[in-house]
Amino acid sequence: MKYLVVANWKCNPATLSEAKKLFDSVGKGAKNIKNAEVVICPPFVYLPDIRHTKYNIRLGAQDCFWEEKGAFTGEISPKMLKNLGVEYVIIGHSERRRYLNETDKMVNKKLKLVLSLGLKPILCIENLNQLKKDLKGMGISKKVIVAYEPVFAIGTGKPCGVVMAKKMRSSINQPRVLYGGSVNSQNAKDYIKKGKFQGLLVGGASLNPTEFVALVKEVDLISKI
Ligand code: PEP
Repeated sequence: MKYLVVANWKCNPATLSEAKKLFDSVGKGAKNIKNAEVVICPPFVYLPDIRHTKYNIRLGAQDCFWEEKGAFTGEISPKMLKNLGVEYVIIGHSERRRYLNETDKMVNKKLKLVLSLGLKPILCIENLNQLKKDLKGMGISKKVIVAYEPVFAIGTGKPCGVVMAKKMRSSINQPRVLYGGSVNSQNAKDYIKKGKFQGLLVGGASLNPTEFVALVKEVDLISKI
């Protein structure tokens, strides 16, 4: 199994040409990566124009709706994403929970639909209680990739200590768990080697191609899981 390194561009950059430039820089920089699967999650509007098949990179989305189609103004269905070549979908990011009042019930419905369509969900959680609620009625779906993202560490430059993160990792009974929160090229390998995570979810550092490629290369140096 390869390590997973997921770039969450959030609501950036402002133009399609900047998005293409950023994507191309990462694609070129990561072309010889062997031990890591690199996933880029741009804003929805850029997805059709990102030529991911040209590079060794997978495409992800930052969210989706919980219905396939219908009268749901402004929403994007996972089926539409799949038809664009998207493979991974981030679900339940803490920024959506906080700013858009996304609940565990909504997250649960999204997860079920995403899985039923054969997409790979990356479920963001802050604690075990949230994980339990989000996976309710699903049995333990081993296909759900979990991202442990303590809110105090997201976008703050204050990453979670590796000892605390490792403790959390060991209490999550899922095969693939990522760490997210102020990851950079300096601390990336600690979460994998010492924290025993299977990959990383990267926000801010993924917008700087030099830094992100350096981070991916650090992960690639770690021998296989
Ligand atoms: C994130 O948005 O999921 C995230 C981890 O952000 P950052 O790396 O900027 O803390």
